[in-house]
Amino acid sequence: MIRFFNTLSGKVEPFNPIVKGEVKLYTCGPTVYDFAHIGNLRAYIFEDLLKRFLVFRGFKVTHVMNITDVDDKTIKGANAEKVKLQEFTKKYTDAFFEDIQKLYISKADYYPRATDHIPDMVKIIKGLLEKGYAYKKDGSVYFNISKFPNYGRLSKIDLKELRPGKRMESDEYEKESANDFALWKDKKEGEPFWETEVGPGRPGWHIECSAMSSKYLGQTFDIHCGGVDNIFPHHENEIAQSEAFFGKKFVNYWLHCRHLIVDGEKMSKSKGNFYTLRDLLARNVDPSALRFLLLSTHYRKMLNFTFEALEGASSSLKRINDFLYELKNRPFEEGENKDISRLVEDTNKKFIAGLGDDLNISVALRALFEMIRKANILISQGKVYRKDGEKLMSSILSFDNVLAVLPGEEEETLSSKLMKKIEDREKARTDKNYELADQIRKELLKQGIVLEDTKDGVRWKVVKSKE
Ligand code: AMP
Ligand code: ZN
Repeated sequence: MIRFFNTLSGKVEPFNPIVKGEVKLYTCGPTVYDFAHIGNLRAYIFEDLLKRFLVFRGFKVTHVMNITDVDDKTIKGANAEKVKLQEFTKKYTDAFFEDIQKLYISKADYYPRATDHIPDMVKIIKGLLEKGYAYKKDGSVYFNISKFPNYGRLSKIDLKELRPGKRMESDEYEKESANDFALWKDKKEGEPFWETEVGPGRPGWHIECSAMSSKYLGQTFDIHCGGVDNIFPHHENEIAQSEAFFGKKFVNYWLHCRHLIVDGEKMSKSKGNFYTLRDLLARNVDPSALRFLLLSTHYRKMLNFTFEALEGASSSLKRINDFLYELKNRPFEEGENKDISRLVEDTNKKFIAGLGDDLNISVALRALFEMIRKANILISQGKVYRKDGEKLMSSILSFDNVLAVLPGEEEETLSSKLMKKIEDREKARTDKNYELADQIRKELLKQGIVLEDTKDGVRWKVVKSKE
């Protein structure tokens, strides 16, 4: 059973998707006005861990992540640089894709951009006006939160303090200012605008996620994620817009990760403790170690980034890589030890149970390192044989489908000669020439290519050599 802590109910709940075996997932993506900082990357890595685990457990996941390319911050940035909004946001959108690739974050199925979905947003805004949930004021359109009785349920804000009729124009604000929020902002000097049925102007930030999630995932979907800062006002407003317009429950499970802080303090440029992935790469930080660090603290705990912690992550990772190197290079004798099969099975169960319990990564990693420790003892006692070595290797590789901290599938860099060998083995298997297939597999293993047969075909990985 899989269980998640749902921000909406404030409880850990069993996870049951709307359609059995399928998960529709929406995660709030970057506002492309700057390079992603490691706090943003924590959120993306938590979401990637969630998604990879669901895929590992056999779910077909459809993942949508929006790109906010028009809002207060992007407009301000473009104006400051005196460039067109599109030119400004392109630079940071490209950088975002480069960053997530470096961190082995698997790609979403859709990355809708806000500026490509203005008509979808206008349709909802128009509907909200017609249904009486929204009103026009000085050319802008506001959502009337007093018309939506469930307002505040996600963030648990007290609406008694509410002063009806007060309006909030900016995209981001504190709980204390829970007022009617802008769905559409009137055309302004120096701002891009669209001519639409609700007037000339541009969307507020929140409406894009209601428009794009329903377009790609349906009016009600399974999981919505973000960092805790998204809970209010952004996600609260998304619920209000979507539920008022569609008349249906918006999202079943809300998962939010807590923030990353640096050296015990909030990241800020003025304190000099603000890091982007680029800053860290310039200091020769290994992206796998950073990924390992960012995912190894439970997502609902605050994560304190320090360079010591990064070193710790690096050495944990080295333990895994050294173990794989050992398995690859030791001339194991033919044979099998049942204790290894049991160890692998037991570890697999613990790994799955750990992550299934609201993504309890500590339990999953503990099981993995315990397996390495025990197997190393058995190796030193000469009690591990060829088949055992293979089982241990494929077990680690299968865990890495979730963790993605080992050197990735370097498809472009694998020589065509090696690719040809993989194909030859596939052919041998299709021809039921298992002896030849096995021989090729062993040859590849000697060159550091590990093959894993999955239901979707053969997967391969390069095992890093000891430095
Ligand atoms: P933004 O680009 O500001 O819209 O944020 C993108 C994602 O990063 C959102 O899910 C935020 O909640 C998340 N986020 C922002 N700051 C942090 C932080 N310090 N730690 C973790 N997640 C964060
Ligand atoms: Zn959003």
